[in-house]
Amino acid sequence: MLTADVARPEEPNCSPPLPGAAASRSRTGPDIVFGPVPSRRLGRSLGINNIPPKACSYSCVYCQAGRTDRLSAERRSFFPPGAVIAAVEARLEVCRHAGEQVDYASFVPDGEPTLDVALGDEIRGVKALQVRVAVITNGSLLWRDDVRADLAAADWVSVKVDAVEMEAWRRINRPAHSLDLGRVLDGVSLFAANRTAILVSETMLVAGVNDDDRSLRATASFLSALRPATAYISAPIRPPAESDVRVPPAATLDRARRIFSDAGLRVGLLVEHEAGAFAAGEDAASGLLAIIAVHPMREAAVREYLARANTDWSVVDRLVSTGQAVVLEHRGQLFYALPARHGARSR
Ligand code: SF4
Repeated sequence: MLTADVARPEEPNCSPPLPGAAASRSRTGPDIVFGPVPSRRLGRSLGINNIPPKACSYSCVYCQAGRTDRLSAERRSFFPPGAVIAAVEARLEVCRHAGEQVDYASFVPDGEPTLDVALGDEIRGVKALQVRVAVITNGSLLWRDDVRADLAAADWVSVKVDAVEMEAWRRINRPAHSLDLGRVLDGVSLFAANRTAILVSETMLVAGVNDDDRSLRATASFLSALRPATAYISAPIRPPAESDVRVPPAATLDRARRIFSDAGLRVGLLVEHEAGAFAAGEDAASGLLAIIAVHPMREAAVREYLARANTDWSVVDRLVSTGQAVVLEHRGQLFYALPARHGARSR
């Protein structure tokens, strides 16, 4: 599940993919792992993308991976767990040889990681590689016993709670039809009550959707009962799925911080881009594609990545000219992303 750090349905179990390069890319060993990338919460995070693009139980209006084209709340088998663990092991080995620090291996696909029925086995297998494991989830499946059991194996879990009122939840998260808000929130509460991992929450604020005082107080009240280590407030600073999504003004973000604080929460604001370099893989082009599948990158970050890979901008020119990547403009900055799901706003 994508988040401010790095970041899906039902019913027909999977909708047909949209046309376009992103939707048609299949994920293979090297694509399953990306980075390490700088994370504002996890230090140097080796990303694990255990979900095909883009399967999620939500289709959040702000999603940096674009619209969900496989909306489902049904758990499924996607990749053999051994392939996921082997891909992580191979990348960790490369990092160790290169002296590249890895603080966490993080399940943070361009979709919802708990849709993967093998997630528990994968978490345990990755932990056996002597690295801490983080999972960033939208929390929509935590009402399931098997999902809570899977996440109990992780060291650090971030749960998304953008809204606790029906209208705002439907507008911002656009959930799969079979999901029920009451059941989702009960599941989050049950997971929090029996936590074995460090638990944090994340609330993405979208102007005019979930940033009014009433919504903020209701969300803060729900979160305070969870007792997260930190309640993160974020804003859509990367290109969102829908072009009319707006970052709340600074005064609103400050008010949100105060409301959360008054509810007894330790608050973290995630409204700036992370500092630090994205690690280059052995193949600069495929490494870049694996990162931007989850994490659209600013031009400056791409340039830094290419320098670390000892290559030049021709790599990007080639990806753009062949339609494998697109350039998006968001809030006056250029971002490089996979095509198709952000559609109309590519330059
Ligand atoms: S649609 Fe929402 S929950 Fe799904 S990956 Fe995107 S941000 Fe995460």
